[in-house]
Amino acid sequence: MNDDPATVGAIAAGFRRLKVVDRVAESATITSFHLEPVDVGGWRDFEPGQFLVFRLPGDGTEGGVVRNYSVSSSPLRPGRYRITVKREPAPERAGGAGLGSGHFHDRVAIGDEILAEGPRGAFTLDRTSPRPVVLLAGGVGLTPLVSMLHALATETDRTVHFIHACDNGDLHALGDEVEAVARSRPGIHAHFCYRQPTERDLARKRHRGTGLVTRELLQSLLPLDDYDVYLCGPTPFMKGVFGILRGLGIARERIKYEFFGPASLLEEDAAAPVILPAAAVPEAPSVSTDGITDAAAVEFRRSGIQASWTDKAPSLLDFAESQGLTPEFSCRAGICSTCKTRLLSGEVEYFEEPLDPPAEGEVLICCSRPKGPVVLDL
Ligand SMILES: Cc1cc2nc3c(=O)[nH]c(=O)nc-3n(C[C@H](O)[C@H](O)[C@H](O)COP(=O)(O)OP(=O)(O)OC[C@H]3O[C@@H](n4cnc5c(N)ncnc54)[C@H](O)[C@@H]3O)c2cc1C
Repeated sequence: MNDDPATVGAIAAGFRRLKVVDRVAESATITSFHLEPVDVGGWRDFEPGQFLVFRLPGDGTEGGVVRNYSVSSSPLRPGRYRITVKREPAPERAGGAGLGSGHFHDRVAIGDEILAEGPRGAFTLDRTSPRPVVLLAGGVGLTPLVSMLHALATETDRTVHFIHACDNGDLHALGDEVEAVARSRPGIHAHFCYRQPTERDLARKRHRGTGLVTRELLQSLLPLDDYDVYLCGPTPFMKGVFGILRGLGIARERIKYEFFGPASLLEEDAAAPVILPAAAVPEAPSVSTDGITDAAAVEFRRSGIQASWTDKAPSLLDFAESQGLTPEFSCRAGICSTCKTRLLSGEVEYFEEPLDPPAEGEVLICCSRPKGPVVLDL
């Protein structure tokens, strides 16, 4: 990796050099990249479920593109991260692949160095809970859950149900690894569901369910219990499965989830609209609340709304949404700056440091909370 101004700037902003030490095809469309820090002191531990932020060349525009990829390896083997990337189709673009995933698949080779920041993210396994766990993945959404599975298998004797839905066996990534972990101790169950199994899949009989994940399938796989559920996958899958889980009586606060794209409403309930945080933190992030008064007044000046802050809202963005506002956002993790808002008065504190700190008088509302009364230009 050369020392061009963009690289030097990225390193100054907290990015680190990681070397690609292995590259493994996991399915027809998904490939893993094993990464080790280049510089002494370049390793950062991660919680199972967290992701790394990569600065990639993109389409040649200045600064490149920033993309997130979850760490899919065990947190108990420090020194090496594995990310597992699906090549996203982008037919409108030369090469036919998304900017970030296409770069990884088509141009990143063993020995290359890339720039990454983090680990980040609040979609993490609660390692203190004694409850049995359901890890429910759609497609490439299995990546953070595989990391959690490794931690659960090694650190605990909690019962785990790993349920992975994907199109068919050709597109099924990390299946052998998941089955090996399931065999490593009693109490871990792996179930696969193929939407459209191939003839080969039908002969192999590795999958338990066919078609979409249904209430009947989940009922047949999950004995009645008091579960912690972790959910990650494409938005339609998440919406469908979230509804089924709620219908089965699983409490909202027991379901943590992460979107790999723009966040969306998971539950539409006109009587009591609930907009759950994309970063899958129904409980407040673990930040110091020093200086935050529960009753701090938050004013949304343009909308003419004033309300009292409550620590039940993970962020100012969530709080704005709970007041019926619809500010723009994308990553909900302090990376993309889409939620940047003018702070007309008051102070905030960040529970996730923004990747690019906003200018004076601006605030990223997805990863901040008020330190006292604040007025926002919303
Ligand atoms: C917290 C988090 C963790 C993630 N972890 C993983 C992971 O572990 N593995 C993984 O594979 N992904 C993961 N992702 C998703 C990943 O960050 C990227 O979003 C994904 O790889 C697609 O990016 P891309 O640059 O390849 O595609 P992009 O270039 O961003 O394109 C994405 C899609 O949008 C369409 N599109 C783009 N531009 C246009 C346009 N101008 N007009 C019309 N359509 C367009 C493309 O057709 C394509 O289908 C994660 C995301 C988040 C937020």
